[in-house]
Amino acid sequence: MPPHARTSPPPGSGHPPGRPACVRYTPGSKRCQGLPSRNRYLTWEGSPRTECREAGRRLAAVPEGDVVWRTARRLHEALAGRVLTRCDVRVPRFATANLTGQTVTEAISRGKHLLIRTDAGVTVHTHLRMDGSWRVRPASERVPGNHRIRLILGNDTWQAIGYLLGIVEILPTTAEPATVGHLGPDLLGPDWDPAEAERRLRANPSRPIGEAVLDQRNLAGIGNVYKAEMLFLRGVNPWRPVGEVGDLPALVDLAKRLLEANKDRFGQVTTGSRRPGEETWVYGRAGRPCRRCGTPVRTADQGSDSESRVTFWCPHCQT
Ligand SMILES: [Zn+2]
Repeated sequence: MPPHARTSPPPGSGHPPGRPACVRYTPGSKRCQGLPSRNRYLTWEGSPRTECREAGRRLAAVPEGDVVWRTARRLHEALAGRVLTRCDVRVPRFATANLTGQTVTEAISRGKHLLIRTDAGVTVHTHLRMDGSWRVRPASERVPGNHRIRLILGNDTWQAIGYLLGIVEILPTTAEPATVGHLGPDLLGPDWDPAEAERRLRANPSRPIGEAVLDQRNLAGIGNVYKAEMLFLRGVNPWRPVGEVGDLPALVDLAKRLLEANKDRFGQVTTGSRRPGEETWVYGRAGRPCRRCGTPVRTADQGSDSESRVTFWCPHCQT
C-alpha cells in the first residue's frame, strides 16, 4: 500500500501546482496511486483529498449515482431560487443559448444524469461521463481561461462551472422524458421502486449479472465500484446469469443501501473503513489478497460498453 504522504508531486504529474499532494501519492512516483474512486476530486473547496486527477484517469471509474446526487444537491444549493446572470455554453450546438434572466427552480439527479430546470420551462441536461466535474465558486472569483470548461451558469452569488462534461444540452423541460425516460428506477430518486428494478433485471435472465446491474435501463445509479462491491458482498460471481442469482431482491436492496450510505460524503466506502486503501473489498484491488479468504482478487473487462467496464471479484468467495 502506498504510504500516506503529503509532499508535493513532481512537475508533470498532473497535480495542480502549489496544491498539497493526494493522500495516496507515493514519493518518487510519477503518479498518484490507486484511489478507488474518482469522486475524491469532485470538489468545491479543493481539499487535499480531492486533487488527484491522475488516479481517476488510471482507474477510469465513472461517477456513480451517489456522486451525481451530491453534485445535484450542491448545484441546487448554489443556483435554485436565484436569477441567472451568467450563461456561458461552450459546446457548439448550444453556444448561442442564453438563459440569463431566468430563475433556476431546481437541480436534480436522475440516475447519473443532472437536470437543472428554470422557470421558463428550460432544462439544462448534463452528464459527467468519464471525466466531467462541476465546481461551485463565488461569483466574484475570476474564472481562468480553461479549454476544459463546457458550461458556466452563474448568479449574483455563485457560479457553477462544468468541466469536461460528457453531455451538455439545453431542451424544453417537457422534453426530458426523451432524454432520461429510458432509465430504470433511480436508486436515490423519490420514485425508487425495487420491485420494478427486479422485474427489469429478470427480463433478460441469461445476461451476466455484472452487466445487468450496470445497465441504467434496469436500475439507475450503479457504476463500477458499487457493482463490484455489491456482488462481492452477496457472494455472486459477476458472470453468473441473472436467472441464477438466488436472492435478487437482497442484491437490489444492498445496492440501494450502499448508495444511501455514501451519498452524503466524499469517497465510496463499502467496508466501513475510511482509511486509505481499506475502503473497498475488491474494487481497485487486482492481485491483492481477498480480505475474507486471501485468494488474489481478479480483474477483467466485462460488457461491450464504450465506457470502462473493468470488474473485480474474488474467485473463491463469489460463485
Ligand atoms: Zn475471497
